[in-house]
Amino acid sequence: MKQRRTGYVWDERYAWHDTGTHAGLFPSGGYVQPFKNFESPESKARMAALVEVSGMIGNLTRVPARQVSEEDLLRVHTAGHVDRIRTQSDDAGGDAGDGFSPFGRGSFEIAKLAAGGTLAAAEAVMDGLVDNAYALVRPPGHHAEPDQGRGYCLFANVPVAIEALRAAGKVQRVAIFDYDVHHGNGAQKIYWNDPNVLAISVHQDRLFPTDSGLVTERGEEAGAGRNINVPLPAGCGNGAYLEVVDEVALPAIRAFKPDLIMVSSGFDPSAFDPLGRMTVTAAGFKQMAEKLIAVADEVCGGKIVFSHEGGYSPVHVPFCGLAVLEALTGIETGVEDPVDISVGESPAHELTAAQKDTIEQSALLARALGMIVD
Ligand SMILES: [Zn+2]
Repeated sequence: MKQRRTGYVWDERYAWHDTGTHAGLFPSGGYVQPFKNFESPESKARMAALVEVSGMIGNLTRVPARQVSEEDLLRVHTAGHVDRIRTQSDDAGGDAGDGFSPFGRGSFEIAKLAAGGTLAAAEAVMDGLVDNAYALVRPPGHHAEPDQGRGYCLFANVPVAIEALRAAGKVQRVAIFDYDVHHGNGAQKIYWNDPNVLAISVHQDRLFPTDSGLVTERGEEAGAGRNINVPLPAGCGNGAYLEVVDEVALPAIRAFKPDLIMVSSGFDPSAFDPLGRMTVTAAGFKQMAEKLIAVADEVCGGKIVFSHEGGYSPVHVPFCGLAVLEALTGIETGVEDPVDISVGESPAHELTAAQKDTIEQSALLARALGMIVD
């Protein structure tokens, strides 16, 4: 495999974002005993730890994170939303908007650092300092909408980065591929009418948000066709995810010819995730990444940036993340995915006829709207 210079963002402050005492997903109170949130520092900090312990860090170029500016946020978010986050953060903390996005004191700055880490990674790629990059950031961003945070997300990390790059004249056209198990509703909403951003989301059908991500949601006006959803039934494994990449993502990205590919990298399609019901393994994530890296070579000089999103198994996420870094760098660490013992040979990895039909519907619609050209 070709070896590449890969940029890597991780900042210890990402682990200091405090998500309080929600019991997994739900606010404590009444009969819900206070516990820990599924969205905790563990999965990300342990991924950062494995990057060190595996020796992978020696192959990476550290890219320092910085906070995005107020101006950067306001290209995507309303002033009201930014003010609400800042005010609560300066006080005792609060919630970003939907009751599922708690944060503690100081998270305003950490959320700006998450968007800024994604931006710094993308700048390093666009400026040619590195070939590609992985931004291991927290809090995640792909559910955040212009006027509210949702689903653990405060600010829309990937769109904030894209808009800063566009304002600086560094990119014009960007493709987003979101393989987080939840729908990428933020990019869908932000780019609904935008002809220059292709937003593709593969997710578990109506998992979160429960009312978005349908195949029929495809953008409007100048953005018509440029939003592609692949809502998969629960139970999909590596086979279905690779089919989505082969039959939908790659042909749409080829036809779109972006200047840059951004990947919303959520590891919650993992077999061991508490919030998803899929069965993807580290090998599956790595194969997806290899295919995306190859199409980036074809269309945009290899320029691809992964921005970390969800993924709530502290045990499995580090191995999935390391596998993606192996794909980005072209360097094998020899570290094995421990969950392979239980699910590596699962029959769930075989693409079923029903899964194939669902994926085909997304591909057919994209083809009908001219987003896939044969
Ligand atoms: Zn997710």
